[in-house]
Amino acid sequence: MAELNVTLPDGSRRVFPEGATALDVARGISPRLADAAFAAKIDGRLRDVYLPLPGDCHIEIVTNRCADALDIYRHSCAHLMANAVKELFPEAKIAIGPTIENGFYYDFDRPEPFQPEDLAKIEERMEEIISRDTPIRREEMPWEKARDLFEKEGEPYKAELAFERGQNEPVSIYRQGQFNDFCRGPHLPSTGKIKPGTFKLLSVAGAYWKGDEHNKMLQRIYATAFLSAKELEEHLARLEEAKLRDHRKLGKELKLFHIDEDVGPGLILWTPAGATIRQELQNFISEELRKQGYAQVFTPHIGKLTLYKTSGHFPYYKDSQFPAIVAPESLAVALEENCSCAELMNRVEAASARLAASVNERAGREVIGAGQVMPDDQLLDGFLLKPMNCPHHIKIFSSQPHSYRDLPVRLAEFGTVYRWEQSGELNGMTRVRGFTQDDAHLFCTEDQVGAEVRGCLSLVKIIFGTLGLADYRVRVGLRDPDSKKYTGTADNWDKAEEACRDAARTLGVPFTEEPGEAAFYGPKIDFIIRDVIGREWQLGTVQVDYNLPIRFDLTYTGADNAMHRPVMIHRAPFGSMERFVGILIEHFKGAFPLWLAPEQVRLLPIADRHVSYCNTVAENYRAAGLRVSVDSRPEKTGYKIREAQLQKVPYMLVAGDREVDAGAVSVRALKGGDLGVRPSGEFLETLRGRVAKRTLELE
Ligand SMILES: [Zn+2]
Ligand SMILES: [Zn+2]
Repeated sequence: MAELNVTLPDGSRRVFPEGATALDVARGISPRLADAAFAAKIDGRLRDVYLPLPGDCHIEIVTNRCADALDIYRHSCAHLMANAVKELFPEAKIAIGPTIENGFYYDFDRPEPFQPEDLAKIEERMEEIISRDTPIRREEMPWEKARDLFEKEGEPYKAELAFERGQNEPVSIYRQGQFNDFCRGPHLPSTGKIKPGTFKLLSVAGAYWKGDEHNKMLQRIYATAFLSAKELEEHLARLEEAKLRDHRKLGKELKLFHIDEDVGPGLILWTPAGATIRQELQNFISEELRKQGYAQVFTPHIGKLTLYKTSGHFPYYKDSQFPAIVAPESLAVALEENCSCAELMNRVEAASARLAASVNERAGREVIGAGQVMPDDQLLDGFLLKPMNCPHHIKIFSSQPHSYRDLPVRLAEFGTVYRWEQSGELNGMTRVRGFTQDDAHLFCTEDQVGAEVRGCLSLVKIIFGTLGLADYRVRVGLRDPDSKKYTGTADNWDKAEEACRDAARTLGVPFTEEPGEAAFYGPKIDFIIRDVIGREWQLGTVQVDYNLPIRFDLTYTGADNAMHRPVMIHRAPFGSMERFVGILIEHFKGAFPLWLAPEQVRLLPIADRHVSYCNTVAENYRAAGLRVSVDSRPEKTGYKIREAQLQKVPYMLVAGDREVDAGAVSVRALKGGDLGVRPSGEFLETLRGRVAKRTLELE
């Protein structure tokens, strides 16, 4: 009988008879390992443990200690959930059920909507199927056979997948009892390997088949699973905490912002309290920018189409932009000529021959093709709501000649841009259609790129530090060494990439290098922060750009008296004020540090006779620059304190006879409780000091 040589992860070898399985290998090591086996990694590929080994191989038994374990476990949970749904609701048709970050989902087609109580029933049935310990088995077959099987079972979605995916390779199905799924696997060897109490069905949402809105809307059940009940509990607690911190909920309760259907979805109305937070943040960022030699500019919200045809933002990215605004006189001409809508679009999107020729010549390749060119007298003029601030800043730079002596030029603007996000993608302040970037563009010489990138990162470090966002990492996007699509010389790229790496190192936080993640025009650095409950948020970027200076023909006079091309750096490290404030609302759970709090101090007179004293104290505090209010309603003090706490006011100052006589206030901190009686003027100085230093503590 033939033999198999099996190499284990520790390098040792064992011999098994032909037909042996990974499970046999595991048993040979220890029965406990066999029992714990989720799957096997054979020559680096994940396989089911009960399949015969393909020949001599390296093998690693995957148990719950391995990195691959959780994904296999969750996928088996997804099958288990679909299995339970089919038992309880035989009319439901199954679509797809992949794992996702933090869990898995499965899509079903069923006439009746799933109700919350159905989820509990499904969970119960899942536990029952676990107790049956049904074997889970893989079966490979030609796609026709798989299609026929699913058609016979009345599963049109699975039959469609078998047809689509089976054209080039044999397909596999996984059987557990009466339940069959079209699936690549691998899976746990039996339903009994899933532990009760380690999964939870979370919610139901609509989802189009294959994500295409022209297809039927299915019902997606979201669920989560972890390898232990303890980890699941921790995750569910985090989800609960995330709900309490949800910026959409807190935004409403604390009146920080408003979204109005009549204004438009995804367009943020900053109400006074939210606007205060934004203004304070912008002041802070502006102060730091000034220290670093940035100049502040203002530019309009729209620009001519030609501008964006030159930059390349239009029409290439038109799907993510609001449609162009056709100039009134152009519109009149088009109407007179009975222009069709399609023709109108063509005439708006095309470029003039002159523009195409000059951009192509400078780029050294055809970036505006002949098909996009139209005679000048047919072009329609118009404007675009700005999708980016760069072209406006470029025009400020190029409005004057530059010498190497005045570089770098650093232009900063809290610039509002507009993007057309699908309505389904919109989410509170974090996914919007209009947002204000903390934008800046740096124009520098090749040799200055390193120092400028480092400068951008040092600013980020200061601002994250002040906000207590200590837990963040960066990603350095580098070019794909095999690709030829990049603008700029290899030499300059090497230098710019080294500059990004170097700068990332200076932050002293973890960073990863990601080859192939650079844009075609330059390497970049992305910032990802982790909030207090462990969620990661992508913020903005620092991006080196060799392309736009070419497209806009930017130049400066060098020390050699010749003309040179500057390099541009785009930087909006916090992304947008909307997104950043949305994240901060969740991070601080609405309880902003004193310097950012919309209302910093609330005075609470105990009785009517203390109101005028409180008004005087409030006036003094206001004169010193603090945001103060007086709650003079004839309510009980305890009630007023509770209300101020709900509204996350950092300090409540109570005044009664004793305080009035002593010129004092009784201080209560949102965090830290009763701080005792303090002379009113002295406490004012304490607060002013904290605001000036932008301290985080609220005691
Ligand atoms: Zn599957
Ligand atoms: Zn830019």
